[in-house]
Amino acid sequence: ERPVPSDIAISRAQTPKNVKVIARELGIPERELELYGAYKAKVNLDLLQRLSHRRDGKYVLVAGITPTPLGEGKSTTTMGLTQALGAHLGKIAFANVRQPSQGPTFGIKGGAAGGGYSQVIPMDEFNMHLTGDIHAITAANNLLGTISAAIETRMFHENTQKDKALYNRLVPTKNGVRVFSPVMFRRLKKLGIDKTNPDDLTDEEIAKFARLDIDPDTITWRRVLDVNDRHLRQITIGQAPSEKGHTRVTGFDISVASECMAVLALSNDLADMRERLGRMVIGSSRRGDPVTCDDIGAGGALTALMKDAIKPNLMQTLEGTPVFVHAGPFANISIGASSVIADKLALKLAGTEGDEVHEERVGYVVTEAGFDFTMGGERFFNIKCRSSGLCPDVVVIVATVRALKVHGGGPDVTAGAALPEAYRTENVELLRAGCINLAKHIQNAKYYGVPVVVAINKFVTDTEAEINCVREEAIKAGAEDAVEASHWSDGGLGAVELAKAVIASSQKPKNFRLLYEADLSIVEKMEAIAKKMYGAAGIELSKLARSQVETYTRQGFGHLPVCIAKTQYSLSHDQSLKGAPTGFTVPIRDVRLSPGAGYLYAKAADIQTIPGLPTAPGYLNVDVNMETGEIQGLF
Ligand code: ADP
Repeated sequence: ERPVPSDIAISRAQTPKNVKVIARELGIPERELELYGAYKAKVNLDLLQRLSHRRDGKYVLVAGITPTPLGEGKSTTTMGLTQALGAHLGKIAFANVRQPSQGPTFGIKGGAAGGGYSQVIPMDEFNMHLTGDIHAITAANNLLGTISAAIETRMFHENTQKDKALYNRLVPTKNGVRVFSPVMFRRLKKLGIDKTNPDDLTDEEIAKFARLDIDPDTITWRRVLDVNDRHLRQITIGQAPSEKGHTRVTGFDISVASECMAVLALSNDLADMRERLGRMVIGSSRRGDPVTCDDIGAGGALTALMKDAIKPNLMQTLEGTPVFVHAGPFANISIGASSVIADKLALKLAGTEGDEVHEERVGYVVTEAGFDFTMGGERFFNIKCRSSGLCPDVVVIVATVRALKVHGGGPDVTAGAALPEAYRTENVELLRAGCINLAKHIQNAKYYGVPVVVAINKFVTDTEAEINCVREEAIKAGAEDAVEASHWSDGGLGAVELAKAVIASSQKPKNFRLLYEADLSIVEKMEAIAKKMYGAAGIELSKLARSQVETYTRQGFGHLPVCIAKTQYSLSHDQSLKGAPTGFTVPIRDVRLSPGAGYLYAKAADIQTIPGLPTAPGYLNVDVNMETGEIQGLF
């Protein structure tokens, strides 16, 4: 066996093509590119219009079995599969992945560029800053945080001033004239006031326009930072003497957990992003109505901060095939997939001209969903596809022999610790028992009427008997095919058979359906997910969750799909239950609203929205080489 160097060493050893070359190969003219150095470029959304006549390429979703601390290699397989399709089988093939968050990069997970000979490069640029999208999201989110806090001051004025005086403050006279800004027109429209001259409003209209009547205690908007800082989970603000005792308890989330990030991931275009940002809710009025970002006049400013972030970032794999890196909503509480816009752009770039289906010329877009199929894949279909109108042609489920052994009842494993014997030597019996987990994910994926291919991500310790066992069990559970792939050690060449299986399956007929209709009640939707996907007997709502469901239904949000936040380490809500457990009841503790993103999220556990640093964090390895100026120690 030839040893495989470290991920960063492999990344560094390859000279990337200039991103202009990648763009040229895809038929993207330079006027549609915004260069960020030699290896990264943003792609203009005009392209979507220019190529709107094309038939989309094939859409491939990569998801995994239930994760273990060992990592299953979903990103590595996404890269390996596109390298095989693009560099070895001559197809246009995109890998669409999330932008990593700085928190996990310097925390426990390390980089997320794939691994071995299947990676996005340059991996250090990919893992840090990229083109600043996460910074833009942080800025937009925190602008709304600042405004929300300032709203409390405004509430003070609302309580003490007359309607007219308030109105004069909001729409002041400049050089003798008073005009509404576009943001104000938006609010007037929402209030049903059809007037353009600020001096024409009646007293009643002035009162409606000027008074938000927010209940300050309901302002729930939190600030964000892209760090793993557990100390910010709960803080008290307003402690300076100038604030005269107006302290308030609040907290921070990690940037990628913000609703602005989910909005970026789910928007269909700039206008859609503008509407979604405006719809985000910061609190309630005293009457119990939601108060939105547009109600307080901030939707336009947030859009201004995020107008470049909406353009996907073009990069490349180790073998010079295109990658879109765009958005990175936190898989713990959000969809954990990259953006709708990147998928739509890539599908057009990989698409074909004319009405006929050209199976030979069609290209592929391989996009990834975080966690296992049952969380990432379910959200991908029921939230992302519902919103984009797209539907995958094939689902690839990544499995590893060693992770399946964990599900078969093998000894506990810890990331970074020595691997117990059972995972290093052949044990078909343990493996076969664990295949029940793979089977459940295959059956769940098939529910959506899309062909399923299993990618067996090969580790050096896997034996032929073990690979055959996984293949047998996968086919038995209904997969079209199950293929061993060695792209981690061999690059795209190691995934050619997998790529051929994906091509063959992508040509099979689909019978697409979603898990639930949007107009079911919120509780029925959660029940459908828990019973049909997780294998639960039912759900049980806390008193808090019950009242939240009631409020959201009354406020008109009952039609939104639901994102259930639970542990990734089990099909159930209890991480100690391996394999494919049944008969459990999923506790729904807390339901939150993300109307801009377009979903509700329900916490089935005490899920953290800002992680902490582990005791052996990734940052301890990172430095800059003083001779070359290169980053070292990323993994
Ligand atoms: P996921 O996307 O499922 O979290 P990654 O693709 O990021 O997993 O892989 C996790 C880690 O495992 C990476 O460091 C990668 O280099 C390593 N890895 C992936 N596949 C293999 C393999 N077949 N053999 C050895 N290491 C692998």
